[in-house]
Amino acid sequence: MRRSHGAASQATTLGQSCSATRGYSRDDRVGPCICIPLPHPQIERSRVRERRRQRDRRMRDEVAVIVGAGQSGLATAACLTALSVPCLILERDDCVASLWRRRSYERVTLHLAKRFSQLPHAPLPDSAPNFLPKPLYLRYLDDYAARFGLRVALRREVVAAEYDPAEGRWRIEVRRRGNGGGGEAEEEEEEECYWARYLVVASGENDEAVVPGSIPGMESFPGPVVHSSRYRNGREYEGKAVLVVGAGNSGMEVALDVADCGARSTTIVVRSQSDDSLLGEDGMVKRMFPDNWKGDNRLYCAGLARRGIYGSGEDAQSIANDIACDYHHHHHH
Ligand SMILES: Cc1cc2nc3c(=O)[nH]c(=O)nc-3n(C[C@H](O)[C@H](O)[C@H](O)COP(=O)(O)OP(=O)(O)OC[C@H]3O[C@@H](n4cnc5c(N)ncnc54)[C@H](O)[C@@H]3O)c2cc1C
Repeated sequence: MRRSHGAASQATTLGQSCSATRGYSRDDRVGPCICIPLPHPQIERSRVRERRRQRDRRMRDEVAVIVGAGQSGLATAACLTALSVPCLILERDDCVASLWRRRSYERVTLHLAKRFSQLPHAPLPDSAPNFLPKPLYLRYLDDYAARFGLRVALRREVVAAEYDPAEGRWRIEVRRRGNGGGGEAEEEEEEECYWARYLVVASGENDEAVVPGSIPGMESFPGPVVHSSRYRNGREYEGKAVLVVGAGNSGMEVALDVADCGARSTTIVVRSQSDDSLLGEDGMVKRMFPDNWKGDNRLYCAGLARRGIYGSGEDAQSIANDIACDYHHHHHH
């Protein structure tokens, strides 16, 4: 409220000064004394007014903002909703659960039994298979978002978040993504700003593809080199020799898939045992379970401690309980 009142009074001052200085428009960021000559004053003035109107409209006050609409973000939002704490999810992609929908291969099946693969407040039914295939898990996540009526703002990429101690809140900068295309000027128009007392980072531990920078000979290798996030199925590898690098869940399943699809040979390369893969290079949270979900200044992380779907659910509940406690206490005083 305070903000929009301030913006309105600033707009009045600007409007008055514009009519007093015909042929000029004022940039409201540089103060009242600097005038910039513009070629088409009428058009430019209305454009400046429109831009400011849009920016003010896009300055949003929220109680809790969650970054990412994967299972961790959805679970946290559902738990907060169940505890009567308003929240908004900002999602970069144009759908929820985009890792499962867009960046995982067709035959992926959950590798943990369903009692470890369900989210808070939504047990999987007896009729569901014990190990869910991708289409069923996706449908479960879509239904989950719908069932709790979660507020999800799609095509919103969080580019920065800063805690403002004077406000006691987080200032979150967002780039609103269009449907493709759009010039530089349009990009500038698409920036939004949110304020929130609570910030939950649920942007995913597997969200970015990690490709080793320098595998000798990779540049001159004549065949395709594909990260598993872009691998869909093994049909195009029929009759070919395929090397799979890495023997985690994805590596093993991709190797089986290409073999099933008739690859001439499939070889898996595994990192040597002495390589300490727990250290560095992964960008995961430093505070490990059970302290992994809470930072300073009401900042939280959901699903970033390598504990899969089960971890997403547990983090979501811990975070929601902590926020609800503070929110209801703060709200009533
Ligand atoms: C092939 C594969 C199979 C797996 N199988 C299993 C399994 O069987 N069991 C299991 O427990 N786990 C499994 N996992 C682990 C899996 O990654 C996690 O369980 C789960 O996807 C993590 O959910 P999340 O919500 O934390 O992150 P994600 O699903 O990665 O969601 C993060 C979301 O945040 C969005 N985002 C990222 N950055 C921003 C930003 N700056 N602004 C706005 N939005 C942003 C992304 O677009 C994405 O939608 C598997 C992973 C893969 C890749």
